[in-house]
Amino acid sequence: MATLRFQALKETLNRKPVEIEDKERRSELFGRNVFSESVMRQFLTKEAYQSVKEANFTGKKIDRTIADHISTGMKEWAISKGATHYTHWFQPLTGSTAEKHDAFFETIGDGLAIEKFGGNQLVQQEPDASSFPHGGIRNTFEARGYTAWDPTSPAFIYGTTLCIPSVFVSYTGEALDYKTPLLRALQAVDQAATDVAKYFDKNVSKVQATLGWEQEYFLIDSALAASRPDIQLAGRTLLGHSPAKGQQLDDHYFGSIPSRVLAYMRDLEKECMLLGIPVKTRHNEVAPNQFELAPIFEEANLAVDHNSLLMDIMQRVAERHNFVVLFHEKPFAGINGSGKHNNWSLSTDTGVNLLSPGTTPMKNLQFLTFFVNTITAVYDNEELLRASIASASNDFRLGANEAPPAVISTFIGSQLTKVLDELEKVTDGKLSPQEKTELKLNVVGKIPEILLDNTDRNRTSSFAFTGNKFEFRAVGSTANCAQPMTVLNSIVAKQLKEFKKEVDALIKDKKMKKDDAIFNVLREYIKKSKNIRFEGDGYSEAWEKEAKKRGLSNNRSTPEALKALVSEKTIALFKELEVMNRVEVEARHEIELEEYIMRIQIESRILGDIARNHVIPTAIAYQNILIKNVKGLKQIFEADFKDHSKEQIKIITEISTHIEKINSGITEMIDARKKVNKVEDVEEKAFGYSKEVKPYFETIRYHCDKLELLIDDEIWPLMKYRELLFTR
Ligand code: ADP
Ligand code: MG
Repeated sequence: MATLRFQALKETLNRKPVEIEDKERRSELFGRNVFSESVMRQFLTKEAYQSVKEANFTGKKIDRTIADHISTGMKEWAISKGATHYTHWFQPLTGSTAEKHDAFFETIGDGLAIEKFGGNQLVQQEPDASSFPHGGIRNTFEARGYTAWDPTSPAFIYGTTLCIPSVFVSYTGEALDYKTPLLRALQAVDQAATDVAKYFDKNVSKVQATLGWEQEYFLIDSALAASRPDIQLAGRTLLGHSPAKGQQLDDHYFGSIPSRVLAYMRDLEKECMLLGIPVKTRHNEVAPNQFELAPIFEEANLAVDHNSLLMDIMQRVAERHNFVVLFHEKPFAGINGSGKHNNWSLSTDTGVNLLSPGTTPMKNLQFLTFFVNTITAVYDNEELLRASIASASNDFRLGANEAPPAVISTFIGSQLTKVLDELEKVTDGKLSPQEKTELKLNVVGKIPEILLDNTDRNRTSSFAFTGNKFEFRAVGSTANCAQPMTVLNSIVAKQLKEFKKEVDALIKDKKMKKDDAIFNVLREYIKKSKNIRFEGDGYSEAWEKEAKKRGLSNNRSTPEALKALVSEKTIALFKELEVMNRVEVEARHEIELEEYIMRIQIESRILGDIARNHVIPTAIAYQNILIKNVKGLKQIFEADFKDHSKEQIKIITEISTHIEKINSGITEMIDARKKVNKVEDVEEKAFGYSKEVKPYFETIRYHCDKLELLIDDEIWPLMKYRELLFTR
């Protein structure tokens, strides 16, 4: 019965690291398959090159006639690198990337053919859009959608295909992807932050959001993974007893990387280099077979594209190495889950990181301005931030005790807390010369020094300041970073606009000096946003209680969390910034709820199947062995047989109890599903799945896991945790 399991184990144990060719220097490989600036200079006319650059800087559309020049140059380059096809590469709301390949090849009659790729094909493509999620947008508006080139993210070649990063929109202009709202949010934060940065430096004309993600993942041998229907279909284990040794010894974290894994990582890094993804850090994570990969940060839109591309490549490279990548936030119960920390900052075209303290008091006032405004934005929109990272899979991680809780809070460290406490005391109104000197020299002026030796680290905070950037830690490992980045940049944009309005009003109406006005507004923000700041243990129960007292939200389930996405406040925010209109926001809400429902529904079916088709039959088979044994004992010992078969009978009874609980649990779960499936309203249905179906997962699992402990290992059909996590 357990043959598949043992075969897979044997196969895994016999594997050797895959040899890879890795002779060339990384720096030489870097960006080789990217239509980068230097390549553009080589393959484009001066005019075409300039227009791409301009589009990059201002977001201005590229002229169609120029597009023809660009496509010609791009085609020449792509063909010279062996490409035969091109595709618009985009990120529909399914959570993965999409592409539809077309050949450059075209016939011109008389049995002749040429390579063709015109401006029109570069700029726009029409994939058959009907099977992508659209939340009703295409039903009520137009039936079709199209993809359009995003010139701010460079084209690249993967395999033999030229990939053109694109947005995906309906014919009526509504966003059907992750990238479109992100680009709009980045434009909003550019404008708002540039306006504020000009208080400090007139030369600033553009502000970019920067993002450095840290991707966590599990690597499991493909044979082991294939032996588990739950891993195959849901990307996580739905049952399995904890191994005798888990991660409690912490011997995996930062330990030496196993050789097969290292070969995989090197292969992957090579692919990343060719595609211009600047991966830099690799290491073991806390759990066995868990790893992390992090790049050097980049402009946020590009970083998002690179993360989406990376997740795709990781899976493809894994195939060559007989691995499966598990991106799920919680593939194994009781074992560390996976996140994707989003390190975020704002940086000017004059080369200044706005969240990095500078060398002069004025530069530090600038730092404080962006620092305090970000905290205020997070405070005002904590529920929306939580909504931006909500998913069925992240629900298993948030609030479990190794991940940030479902409460959003910011950690800034004791030194900066002191600074904010000082600023809170700033006089209401105009500042006296003494006060100004004191502030500039002893409070604001001291920031770089205190940050230099600021060793404060708090790994339990969901949104922590880490020296020169904020780190949004609650993001899940399967997430498309565009979602949290759209929200974060939008709320900061809105906040900075508000700030500028208030400061300008003080300057104009109260005749205040600029820095007096800034200090005054910051003081109010510091007071107002205090409740979002938390320096203690974010994983503790005490914090959950405290957070509740402070009025912070603690939305544990996705349907609960998503409510904030469609609140009137959110809709007004996105509308004001022109990030999304009501239709787009509501469509997204619906898509996310549907996705949630589907995930829980699928997992519920898989669990039912495994429990009934694998676990119960195995339990019965083993129970029959015991029964035969007891019968045999009876034959031998006759009247005394009970003395000899007491324990066997105990096990037989226990097995019966577990079988009963599992089978009746599944029946009840199926009934619950049937009932919930009848619900029309999608939100109500999602709540139904969350409250009425999902709770069965744990009880059914509990009894299956108990059986795993009782039943003969020889016949247990499912790869065990110990085997999944420790076989190399
Ligand atoms: P750690 O947080 O583990 O100490 P680092 O401070 O080096 O490590 O940063 C982790 C991630 O933060 C890296 O991906 C890095 O590129 C990114 N990062 C660093 N500075 C910035 C910034 N200004 N904006 C966005 N991301 C950044
Ligand atoms: Mg980190």
